[in-house]
Amino acid sequence: MKIHNFNAGPSILPKEVIRKSAQSVIDFNGSGLSLLEISHRSIDFLEIIEKTTCLVKQVMNLNDDYAILFLQGGASLQFSMIPYNLMDQEAAYLDTGFWAKNAIKEARKFGKVKILFSGKNQNYTHISKHYQIPCNVDYFHCTSNNTIVGTQMKIFPKTSVPIVCDMSSDIFSRKLNFCQFSLIYASAQKNVSSAGMTIVIIKKNILGKIKRNIRNIPSYMDYKIHIQNKSILNTPNVFSIYTSMLTLEWIKNKGGLSVLEKQNQHKAKLLYNEIDNNNLFENKIHEEDRSDMNVSFFLKDKKLEKEFNKMWKKENIVGLEGHRFLGGYRASIYNALPLESVQFLIEIMKEFERRHDRK
Ligand SMILES: *Cc1c(COP(=O)(O)O)cnc(C)c1O
Repeated sequence: MKIHNFNAGPSILPKEVIRKSAQSVIDFNGSGLSLLEISHRSIDFLEIIEKTTCLVKQVMNLNDDYAILFLQGGASLQFSMIPYNLMDQEAAYLDTGFWAKNAIKEARKFGKVKILFSGKNQNYTHISKHYQIPCNVDYFHCTSNNTIVGTQMKIFPKTSVPIVCDMSSDIFSRKLNFCQFSLIYASAQKNVSSAGMTIVIIKKNILGKIKRNIRNIPSYMDYKIHIQNKSILNTPNVFSIYTSMLTLEWIKNKGGLSVLEKQNQHKAKLLYNEIDNNNLFENKIHEEDRSDMNVSFFLKDKKLEKEFNKMWKKENIVGLEGHRFLGGYRASIYNALPLESVQFLIEIMKEFERRHDRK
């Protein structure tokens, strides 16, 4: 049975990645042991961490100025780990949605937060490109893709201030100049792997600037200690790291980020076209800010929801419900979602429109 998986996270992964990671749980590399039964300090596992680190750098075209960490606590822990390590006095944030707001809430516990732009009054349907980053802030924080409302930053500011970016829902989905960022973080369960692991990419020279008398950083919260320990300060999420390695190999075999970007843009364009041209549906996001990963849409007539829900559920489409804060619909069309699933959803929307035209 073919299932079309539009889940927002945890979400679809490439079939072959799932197959190989499942096999490793049963018998890791023909060793007779499960991946879950070996030491995280064994040579076999150290090789996995090393390989995953190299793949991240290769795929993103990053040099050795950057350290790659695989931590726990989700992107949510990064909301406080970032100010813990980087905020001396004040940081600048963009308020572009639910996750950005959570990041801001945590940062306020460590110092002053300057909000350079808030999309709140427009229900986060737009991201400003006209804000000024003060040169005296410790860092600038943004969210590259707003998973819930469905907006995405297409351009990033030029600034001398370190740029910190939450890429949880669009990491490895497009080619960017990743050297413009000083810190990138992404929880794995949207486009990379299973939940319980966060990839943190840090330009090493931004660390160590907090004065000790401001705060003493607990070891698990200290990026420098994790870098020294190569992500095995404590027992990491071995399964999620291994699965990330498989996904990164899949990305590399596909031809890398520029190939995936083209595919992702194509899928998104087809779906937005249908939403714009179908009489029954609408998308509320400013066109230039529309996400290529999470496509949100609504029925113009809410009374039709029950009927539409029944229709797509019957066709083995899953995960199309909008976020519980927003309602409506959200199709998450991550790297692993095949074009044919997007085409299938479009056919269902067309058929729904035809049925109602006839009425
Ligand atoms: C899902 C998500 C988070 C939260 O991730 P957790 O791993 O659940 O902490 C943060 N930011 C963005 C943009 C997300 O999509």
